[in-house]
Amino acid sequence: MPWNRKLYPADWPSIRASIQKRAGNCCERCWVPNYAVGYRDEFGCFQPAGGWGSELFDRAGAGELPFKEAQECARRLNECRFSLDGTWRRWFVIVCTTAHLNHNTQDNRTENLSFRCQKDHLDHDREMHQRVRRYRREKDQLKLLEVMHGKGKAGMESDGPGEAGGEGGESSSLEGRGCERLRQARPSAEDVSTRRL
Ligand SMILES: [Zn+2]
Repeated sequence: MPWNRKLYPADWPSIRASIQKRAGNCCERCWVPNYAVGYRDEFGCFQPAGGWGSELFDRAGAGELPFKEAQECARRLNECRFSLDGTWRRWFVIVCTTAHLNHNTQDNRTENLSFRCQKDHLDHDREMHQRVRRYRREKDQLKLLEVMHGKGKAGMESDGPGEAGGEGGESSSLEGRGCERLRQARPSAEDVSTRRL
């Protein structure tokens, strides 16, 4: 996964190495070894090349399988992606990276870090991306409502000089202006919401 070096501390390589060691060089969620070669079945479960307990898998588990060799193995397997039972398989190499569980890259406490395979790291990040998208959507909707109801400008007018003594008649005229603004804003507001869908 792409990462911005500037967001990480200078001693990040040693922090990462300590987390990798704690994890025994395996994903801390699915416990598949780093650099294991395999494919994902229809349920998203990792299936190693040669099966569990194969020499290739054991070498990856022991941290003795170089990445280039694992990559070459996946490349050769991908030359014939169809298995004997006719299913299509995409062979790849598990590459574990260190995830920040609270998504704060400045918080490098060991309990906030987790060694994760691609899928489990992405699954974790996806939850945050969904939250960010929901937050933006709600923020946009709030802005839209403010435009529709003329909230920002009406508030400024009532707070302005000379407004304090004339609440009654003035507020009804503001309401009238707000309705006018609402009528004007509504078609474009619908356009905006349609565009965002
Ligand atoms: Zn995993």
